[in-house]
Amino acid sequence: MEGLTASEIAGFGVGTLLLCATIAAPKLDAFFSASQRSSLGMCKRCGDLRMVPCMKCKGTGSVKSNGPIDLSVMDNLYLVFGGAESKVKSIRCSKCQAKGHFRCPDCANISRV
Ligand SMILES: [Zn+2]
Ligand SMILES: [Zn+2]
Repeated sequence: MEGLTASEIAGFGVGTLLLCATIAAPKLDAFFSASQRSSLGMCKRCGDLRMVPCMKCKGTGSVKSNGPIDLSVMDNLYLVFGGAESKVKSIRCSKCQAKGHFRCPDCANISRV
């Protein structure tokens, strides 16, 4: 380690730290926002919105009914009865009762004042 001054070593250390910080920044950001929420007494899952979006309808409250049931048979029925509806209909999301969101399970477990 001859020829390396203390400041050179320090500079190298800082450079390495900066590099690590840059790489880890997105992860750290997520970590800090989560810990920040909990330190503020906010729900980690929903950020105190007390609701989480429905994954089935992606928060829209309706889903496209293009499942395996809606095949040629249904198309023929529409043709027979002269139905002008498109084959892909939007139906109410049965998972969230068309609300598009659920009560946050984390918040539901906490008795709030
Ligand atoms: Zn839904
Ligand atoms: Zn919550």
